[in-house]
Amino acid sequence: MGKKLLIHNDRVPGIHTLDVYRAHGGYASVEKALKSMTPDQVTEEVKKSGLRGRGGAGFPTGMKWSFLAKPEGVPRYLVCNADESEPGTFKDRYLMEKIPHALIEGMITSSYALGANQSYIYIRGEYFYVARILETAIAEAYAAGWLGKNILGTNYSLELSVQVGGGAYICGEETALLESLEGKRGNPRIKPPFPAVAGLWGCPTVVNNVETIAAVCPIVMMGGEEYAKIGVGKSTGTKLISASGHINKPGVYEIELGLPVEEFIYSEEYCGGIRNGKKMKAVVAGGSSVPILPTELILKTAKGEPRLMTYESLADGGFQTGTMLGSGGFIVMDEDTSIVKNLFTFTRFYHHESCGQCSPCREGTGWMEKILKKILDGKGTLADVDLLWDIQSKIEGKTICPLGEAAAWPVAAALRHFKHEFEAYVKNPSSIKDVKHYYRLNNLVEA
Ligand code: SF4
Repeated sequence: MGKKLLIHNDRVPGIHTLDVYRAHGGYASVEKALKSMTPDQVTEEVKKSGLRGRGGAGFPTGMKWSFLAKPEGVPRYLVCNADESEPGTFKDRYLMEKIPHALIEGMITSSYALGANQSYIYIRGEYFYVARILETAIAEAYAAGWLGKNILGTNYSLELSVQVGGGAYICGEETALLESLEGKRGNPRIKPPFPAVAGLWGCPTVVNNVETIAAVCPIVMMGGEEYAKIGVGKSTGTKLISASGHINKPGVYEIELGLPVEEFIYSEEYCGGIRNGKKMKAVVAGGSSVPILPTELILKTAKGEPRLMTYESLADGGFQTGTMLGSGGFIVMDEDTSIVKNLFTFTRFYHHESCGQCSPCREGTGWMEKILKKILDGKGTLADVDLLWDIQSKIEGKTICPLGEAAAWPVAAALRHFKHEFEAYVKNPSSIKDVKHYYRLNNLVEA
């Protein structure tokens, strides 16, 4: 049984309430940090822990915090990115819904470290019911003196607010999130300047993911060095994984980084194997934007080593034979899955969510969607398959924000590993099974 630091209490009745959370050791990191540590000491422990951003990019959290500009007399902000919208990813929702005080505790401890006196939780619009849970928990924390003026009788004060977004995937990009939080359309900003220098209302700002912020609590309690002993190499600590698709036990799991992928998929402790005794065909390991890998490459690297649930092992081989840990949205597909249909669903999503600022993303996602639909309608040509490759190759690195790449990478990987499926659909349209049913499910019209 792996170590759990974040959702070990998730089944305790009433753990969403302050009293029960406190009875199980909640808010101890706030007490420890505010009463016996300086803000810099908290940051130092986070650096020592090796914690990396759990939203997808995996950037070292302590380093990100140390970039925060601290000009005299200018407010600083901590903004929690709870705009979890990556298809296949639902672990932040689980954490906030089940143990809302874990995030609030992390917000207080982290805001103290950063010198922020006003912090925000920006949550996606579709999670409105989770926003209500958070607001109730925040009201409890205010009433008990964990938020507000002079917390625990110290000089430190913090106001914490929840802001509900309008339901746009792009607002998960940190600068788009800040635009939205300022009341504007959520268009990503051109960087630099980075938020650490000019973020919310032009002030120094750190934007961190829900799970990242919650992980600060165990780090403060156990110390950064102890936390860094969990995991492998530069992948330290535990990670929440949202597992979905054709597995026997979909759900949210907390794993120690370094767990073999094969064990995660097949052991009873986690996914419990493939549903209905089928064979596995492919896995999208870190949310819909990361490259899909066929079974042989998700279980073992191209060098024949067992693939591990770490940032490094999943990326081994680059995009030719590897993928990314990403947001931890782990989607398993069985032998009956149509890779072309799956890719069409992802591409349609990215086209819909493109903010439209950059031509390669705005136009490219639309073209890719149209070509995939043409293939699924049985009207594709081999030249269309080549054109699909050409379009995706002209998006990466040519856009303001990573959404363009998020749309291009799945197309490139599907063509790299499963080109034969696209060609089979083109050469033999009658092999395209159940497309009408699929269109009905997706509210689509057959051409
Ligand atoms: Fe908008 Fe796409 Fe450009 Fe990002 S890459 S700024 S989503 S058009």
